Amino acid sequence: MNGIPAVHDAALPGHPGAVDWERVRADFPLLMREVHGHPLVYLDNANTSQKPLPVVASQDEFYRRHNANVSRAVHALGTEATEAYEASRARLARFLNVRADEVVLCSGTTFAINLVAYSWALPRLKEGDTILVSRMEHHANIVPWQLVAQRTGAKIKVAEILPDGSLDLDGLHRAMTPDVKLLAVAHVSNVLGTVNPVREICREARRRGIVTVVDGSQAAPHLKLDVAAIGCDFYAVTGHKMCGPTGTGALWARREHLESMPPFIGGGEMIKEVSFDGTVFNDPPHKFEAGTPNIAGFVGLGVAIDYLDAIGMDAIAAREAELLAHATEALQAIPGLRIFGTAPGKAAVISFLVEGAHAHDLATLLDLEGVAVRSGQHCAHPLLQYYGVAATLRASLAFYNTHEEIDRFVAALEKTRRLLA
Ligand code: PLP
Repeated sequence: MNGIPAVHDAALPGHPGAVDWERVRADFPLLMREVHGHPLVYLDNANTSQKPLPVVASQDEFYRRHNANVSRAVHALGTEATEAYEASRARLARFLNVRADEVVLCSGTTFAINLVAYSWALPRLKEGDTILVSRMEHHANIVPWQLVAQRTGAKIKVAEILPDGSLDLDGLHRAMTPDVKLLAVAHVSNVLGTVNPVREICREARRRGIVTVVDGSQAAPHLKLDVAAIGCDFYAVTGHKMCGPTGTGALWARREHLESMPPFIGGGEMIKEVSFDGTVFNDPPHKFEAGTPNIAGFVGLGVAIDYLDAIGMDAIAAREAELLAHATEALQAIPGLRIFGTAPGKAAVISFLVEGAHAHDLATLLDLEGVAVRSGQHCAHPLLQYYGVAATLRASLAFYNTHEEIDRFVAALEKTRRLLA
C-alpha cells in the first residue's frame, strides 16, 4: 500500500553483529522521555512493547490517506484498506511460516484462545474428557479452559514445573493419558522466561491424538518462529508485544480445524449470504472475523513485522540473550535477591524478589527513579502459588534496551532496597 513507511535499514539481514543498536533505539521516541525527572528505563516489555517510528507513522498515514472499511466497498479507498489489511495477514503468515488462509486476525491472544475454546473445544468436549494445561500458563490460557470445563463437564489437569521453572517433561508425558483431548501450553513463560520445547511436546501430544494449543505471546517478539515445524494445532500471538499496535493479534490453526469449527462471533464480514431462513458463512479465516476489525492496527502490525525482520529475529534473540546475561549477573550480586525461573536458554524475563521488601513497594520506588518494572502476579496466579509467593517484580527486556539502562536499573534497585531495609 502506498505510504507505508519503508522498512528500517539499520540491520544487515543475516549479520547480527552489524546491527547498529543505538540507531535502532533512536526509532523508539518514547524511550527518550523522562519519568519523575529521570531518563526512563522501560523494562516492562513482556507487558507491552514500545513502538518504533515506522509503526507510529503508519497509523498517521493510514488515517490521513487510506482510511476506509475492509471487504465491503468497491471504491479506491476501500480497495486500498482491504489490500493493506490482507497484506498484513500475508506478512504475519510469512513471519510465522504458515499459510495466510490459516491465519485468523483478531484482537490478541486472549481472543485467539477463546476462539479455540468456544469454537473448537466447547462443541467437542464432554464429561470424561480432560484438558491438560501447564502450571506456568497466563490466565488467558487457563480461564477459557475452565469456562469450557464448567460447561462440558470436562476436567482440567495441571502439568507441573520443576523448581528452576522448566516444565517437568516426564510428568507432562505421563499426564498425556487417553482422556486428555487438548493440551494448552505457553511457548515462552511471561513470568519465568522459560522457553518450552514445544516441538517435542506437540509431537508427543500428536502421537496420542491430543490437540495442542500453543500460546506464542511471549515467543513471537523474541524468537525466530517456525510454527509449521512446531507441529501444533493452534498457535496464538498478540501484536502489541511485537512492536505492533494494541488490539491486534492472530490465531493460526490447521485448515481442517478452521473448516470444521463453527463461527465464534456472528455479524457482518463473516457471511456469504444471509436470509431469515439461515446464513451461509464465509470461508475461513473470514468466517471468524465478524465486524469491522482494527484495520489501522493491522496495517501497523505489518509494518512492525517488517521492522523486526529488517533487524533479524536471530539478531534480536542474540541481543536479548546478552542483555539478559548482564542483568542476571548484576542482580545476583544484590544480597537477598531471589530469581524465579533459571531454566537454561530462557528468554529475557527476570522475575525476582528482594528479601525484606514488598514487590509493590520496590516497584513504586523504582518508578520514582524512572525505572518501569511490573510487580504483582503477572496474570499467573497458579504459578506464583507454586512458588508460595504473593507477588514478584518482573524486569522484561527488549532488543532496544541497553547495558547502561540495566546498570541504572540495578543501581536504583540497590538504592530502593537500602531505603526499605
Ligand atoms: N499469554 C501470555 C503468555 C501473555 O504474556 C499475555 C499477555 O501478557 C497473554 C497471553 C494475553 O495477551 P493479550 O492480553 O494481548 O491478549
